[in-house]
Amino acid sequence: MPFVTHTEGGSWSGGGTEVPNCNLNDRNAITSAFNFMQNTIRAQVAALGGECATLANRLAGKTIASVNVDCLGGSCRAGIFGTAPRDGDSINMCALALPPNVQADTDVTVFHEIVHSCGGGELDSWALENRFYVGRGTINPGGATVNAFCGETSAIGGGLRAGEFVVWNPSTGQVSVKVLSGGSWSSGPTANAGAQVLAPNATYITASC
Ligand SMILES: [Zn+2]
Repeated sequence: MPFVTHTEGGSWSGGGTEVPNCNLNDRNAITSAFNFMQNTIRAQVAALGGECATLANRLAGKTIASVNVDCLGGSCRAGIFGTAPRDGDSINMCALALPPNVQADTDVTVFHEIVHSCGGGELDSWALENRFYVGRGTINPGGATVNAFCGETSAIGGGLRAGEFVVWNPSTGQVSVKVLSGGSWSSGPTANAGAQVLAPNATYITASC
């Protein structure tokens, strides 16, 4: 059951009806967002190569039939579009990302949260939605969000910092695909910058790392 339910009716001894927390309009918008991600975006993520190809493989398993989707309604924090456990099998949607707001807001939020469920951090989700959902609901991360990228990434030399699927240069704002090479039984692979995800830009520049 992809949509999380609650029980309505019934009594202390049971009975009642299982009702999805996402209403019909919500479910239609969310289903459409999953289909857009699978039919249009996933191949574009795969084409970036490197660890983004790994992400695309994980995205293939994230369908409306396999992910538990909940609509949190009034229990969402103000200003939040959605949440998701990192490396999990569920996403939570908030009112800002659901009808009567535009479909694009649902599209980009489903993608952002699904990247988290594939193991991505905030840098991964933001950079990839900014790449692939332009004109389709994406907005730039705020300064506090960009500063927080520092704490969830690790320095890999040359002023670059690695996330799960992308590599970031906090001095120029450029984001590139993370490409792994080498490694053995005794040492992990080395991360390098591959194809460009985002050109150098002011939004992704910070001196906080
Ligand atoms: Zn996020």
